[in-house]
Amino acid sequence: MGALNLNTMKRVCKKCGVEKEIEEFVKNKACPFERERTCKECRNKRERARDNISEKHKEYYKLNKDHIKISNKKRYELNKESISLSRRTKEYRAKAKIWKRKEYIKNKERIDNRNKVYALENKDKISKHAQEYWENNKVMLHAKQKLQNQKNRDELRDTYVKDQIRRVFSIPTKTIYEYPDLIENYRQQIKVKRLLKTKKDESNETS
Ligand SMILES: [Zn+2]
Repeated sequence: MGALNLNTMKRVCKKCGVEKEIEEFVKNKACPFERERTCKECRNKRERARDNISEKHKEYYKLNKDHIKISNKKRYELNKESISLSRRTKEYRAKAKIWKRKEYIKNKERIDNRNKVYALENKDKISKHAQEYWENNKVMLHAKQKLQNQKNRDELRDTYVKDQIRRVFSIPTKTIYEYPDLIENYRQQIKVKRLLKTKKDESNETS
């Protein structure tokens, strides 16, 4: 089935089983005889059915929005603990990050707009909340920042190297970021300095 009849230049559709002219099959280089196995008519039917389903889903969602939201929330509340546990894994976070990024790119304008409107409408609430959060978590936030700084320093991250360049050469941050080579070169310099220092310390210890 599906083979081309060379006498009539006709072929049987895989879906409806009707023998049809070769032109009735969509061109596709990956298929035998470079034509798809289902006829155009069947193909169109399939596509329409697919559209119908997604239209129906949309329609259903619209009609049952409140109900769906409530039941989703209920389900979330029931499984809150196990969900939050599973979301705490590194893998999940990495996946979520990629997914979020994709969604953001897809809906950039809408999301930016929504955030802007939200920020404007809730200006006081947001700044009050931020202040409260800071007051309540001062000690923890300080410690966290300290740890982060330490990490930046140990791993010679861009932000640390940038700060060093700014301090030593008094170059503004903006300019530093315009020349990424600056950061990379200075990072290497610091590495060499550190290496020399450890060597020196080592030899001091032995002598
Ligand atoms: Zn067909």
